[in-house]
Amino acid sequence: MAREIKIHNNLTRKKEVFQTVEPGKVKFYSCGPTTYDFLHVGNARALVVGDLFNRVLKAFGYDVTFVRNYTDVDDKIINRALEQNKNAIEFAAHWVEEVKTDMDHLGMVPATHTPKVSETMPEIIKMIEDIIKNGSAYVVDGEVLFDVPSFSEYGKLSKKDLDSLQHGIRVEVESHKKNPADFVLWKPAKEGEVSWDSPWGKGRPGWHIECSAMAKKFLGNTLDLHHGGVDLMFPHHENEIAQSEAANKCSFCNAWAHNEFLNFGSEKMSKSLGNVVTIRNFVEKFGGQVLRHVLLSVHYRARIEWSDEVIQRALDEVKRIHEFVIEAKTYKASASTQADEVISNCMEKMMDELSNDFNSAGAMGQFFSFLRHVKGHKDNLSADSLKKVHETIKFVQDTLGLVHAKPESILEDFAKRDQDTSSTGIDAVWIEKLIEERKLAKAEKNWARADEIRKELTAKQIVLIDNKDGSTGWKIQG
Ligand code: AMP
Ligand code: ZN
Repeated sequence: MAREIKIHNNLTRKKEVFQTVEPGKVKFYSCGPTTYDFLHVGNARALVVGDLFNRVLKAFGYDVTFVRNYTDVDDKIINRALEQNKNAIEFAAHWVEEVKTDMDHLGMVPATHTPKVSETMPEIIKMIEDIIKNGSAYVVDGEVLFDVPSFSEYGKLSKKDLDSLQHGIRVEVESHKKNPADFVLWKPAKEGEVSWDSPWGKGRPGWHIECSAMAKKFLGNTLDLHHGGVDLMFPHHENEIAQSEAANKCSFCNAWAHNEFLNFGSEKMSKSLGNVVTIRNFVEKFGGQVLRHVLLSVHYRARIEWSDEVIQRALDEVKRIHEFVIEAKTYKASASTQADEVISNCMEKMMDELSNDFNSAGAMGQFFSFLRHVKGHKDNLSADSLKKVHETIKFVQDTLGLVHAKPESILEDFAKRDQDTSSTGIDAVWIEKLIEERKLAKAEKNWARADEIRKELTAKQIVLIDNKDGSTGWKIQG
């Protein structure tokens, strides 16, 4: 039997014992990336959290069907492709491959299905037809809109009340929407844009319908678990619920889990704000193992504040773990037959942490206590304890992915970085010193020096961000 796990369900806003429709089976959907550029480390958080759920549920004995999509039809993709005079679908396909490379670096276990929107058109169109048939959508000039007030439970996930929502939305005079909160299911194609034939003419799906259709295609009408970043709760997930329940006439998903943001400075890391570090850039400097470590060292419902300290701590810990794993291969059992409770209980303690709403940070803490203990007792390990040490390391590898399949390669990377000081990354102390000096220079109206400092940092690929509150942040050019 699968092990019991508690998950904070955003539908009820409570931590609950996770119940699946079919005992022992999990139908799990996670909203995947939009593919038009390199992803940033905030996107990586959503990917790694989905991967954590998948791995932990499997380790707990569930039979998991995990679907994570690629959004390859989208305004941003179409606009970028047009700018570059490229076919939008081919353009997106190129970026899907780049995302796959990033995911390999992050050590992700492959999902069961990874559908693309462009390959799901018949199912999307069929679902829109069902919603219209069931009276929850209407057609105006080749556009299909979801009739929000027709779905009485609208707002049940984001806890928004439809009346205040309707008032909060400004509707253009010429809008053909029946209600301000109505959203698009199918939009007519503009000249030169990629499009598909449909009963409503040539066009393409609105954003939200894709996930409802892909989830139904691979998981059926009712899912057990759905995940995405917290920004997706409204409107995306609220709209997924409305669409799926209007089309299928049954409950869409029983448990909803959202990862918090990864912030840079005081704001969410996001492409539109420009405050990004790309996965690729980070991996080139520090390796994917270190990024994975950063992302799992904080519980998925707590914010991560991206900083040099966070990176440095992860670097130290990744090194310690991999030195230990390599050293543990050389341990020999002593003649001792004494049981060692710390060693024999560690795996169970980590499972307790993980069954408490996927507490990866707690599980990591348990592993470090174990690591310290084992190192202190390495000359006096019974054969049983030694076996348990290896099993525990394997558990951390399978469940958290915090041990690389080739631990030696991680230490080689560290050695290479140590040799090449220019790529050891960022000397935060030096940067902060210059920022302080620039602040003084500006206070003294010494603009030339202030400018010089900015240039000096730019030459090292450090970009300064002057915040509204007068403080100055920085980022690595990504
Ligand atoms: P997008 O490609 O923008 O649809 O985002 C893909 C996934 O990354 C979604 O689940 C987002 O919620 C998530 N995401 C985007 N930015 C961040 C961030 N700064 N921190 C955490 N998750 C994020
Ligand atoms: Zn989605």
